[in-house]
Amino acid sequence: MKGMNDLFSKELQARRWITQKALQAFESYGFSQVQTPVLEELSLFVRSVGKTTDIVSKEMYALEDRDGTPICMRPENTAGTVRALLEHHKLTQEQECKVFYVGPMFRRERPQKGRLREFTQVGAEFFGTDAPTADVELLSMLHQWLLSLPIGKIKLLINSLGQPQERAEYLKALRTYFEPLRDQLCSDCQRRLETNTLRLLDCKNKTCSKLADESPSILDFLQEESKQHFEAVKNGLTQLGIEFEITKKLVRGLDYYTRTVFEFIAESGLGAQNTVAAGGRYDNLVEELGGPSVPAIGFAAGIERLVILAEENGLSLDEKRPDLVLVYADDTGREQIPQIAHKLRQANIWVDFEHRKKSVKAQMRRADRMKAKEVLVLGTREIESDEGQLKSLDSGEQRFVQVSNLLSAYSPNFV
Ligand code: ATP
Ligand code: MG
Repeated sequence: MKGMNDLFSKELQARRWITQKALQAFESYGFSQVQTPVLEELSLFVRSVGKTTDIVSKEMYALEDRDGTPICMRPENTAGTVRALLEHHKLTQEQECKVFYVGPMFRRERPQKGRLREFTQVGAEFFGTDAPTADVELLSMLHQWLLSLPIGKIKLLINSLGQPQERAEYLKALRTYFEPLRDQLCSDCQRRLETNTLRLLDCKNKTCSKLADESPSILDFLQEESKQHFEAVKNGLTQLGIEFEITKKLVRGLDYYTRTVFEFIAESGLGAQNTVAAGGRYDNLVEELGGPSVPAIGFAAGIERLVILAEENGLSLDEKRPDLVLVYADDTGREQIPQIAHKLRQANIWVDFEHRKKSVKAQMRRADRMKAKEVLVLGTREIESDEGQLKSLDSGEQRFVQVSNLLSAYSPNFV
């Protein structure tokens, strides 16, 4: 299907490696893993992400449950995470809660490089405090993970969207600014002017983008408290040596964000889809979804974009190779090999052999093709004398081994 990929070993290995790096970084910050279902009630996203957002209004894979309840494939995992934590009474005003997730998300977008319909996000959420140090901690964790990947140069962009009242004032000013320019805007932005005015700011259309450059800045609409929060985040990042750029046009496509928003972008390698991770503070979402008043901040990163970058930057993972290929020289060897292989496999040694009737030469060619590390030819002579020659296909060196105790050739502890 369009925008949905079949994945094979090499790609999966790169993903696993990148995800493993995330786990390592996140666990040192005390985040623990959650997993929620791919299907959720559609209303969850209408209430959280927002009815008029692109995601909910036109990108959902929606269907009906048997009882008629509208459900959908999740387009993101913050709402599902909040729902799950609330259902299991894990969100309270007293205690902080730090979680991360890894999993597939679904949006009916126009597929292109770095933009799929099924994609994988690694994300983290930090609940329970609106201290600016929490923003800094989350950003530094994300930064640490991204720095551990070979993805070229990345840049952190930050902005503040203020509190809802501040944003309401700002939106008025933004509409006043764009209204007289309506005819120059792309058709999407003409619609956004009424429904999702903030998103006018990150339209990729050249004219829209130019007009947005001259538009009023949200930062001029922040009251003292939001200003102080933003200042503290900037100072905290500076103290940790994390560089950033303030971008007044930075907004997010979801309705629930308040105050700090951010993106990590790749400086090259991804074209227009250059955002590798994005997120922000969402201090009102938990309450809006029926929970206590628990402030939070989170992010999500797209694994496919990271894989593209890592591959372009020469990520080379050790290719997995068979430890040993057993080659039979005659019927006695062919009969004994399955049992010999069985013993080694039980010690998690990768052993392979040909099941069909083939010549030694053909079996050797096969071992070469498989890039086996070693081969061992077994026939009546080797079985009867209990001695064979293990040959390294890399160096050509040979060593004698006891056929009945091959394990000892791999680790003396296995004797
Ligand atoms: P964009 O502006 O790139 O569409 P967005 O604002 O929709 O991003 P979020 O919903 O915040 O992004 O998602 C966070 C991250 O998830 C993105 O930065 C990106 O790395 C990844 N992502 C989002 N949508 C897709 C997609 N359709 N295909 C692949 N990755 C995606
Ligand atoms: Mg998007």
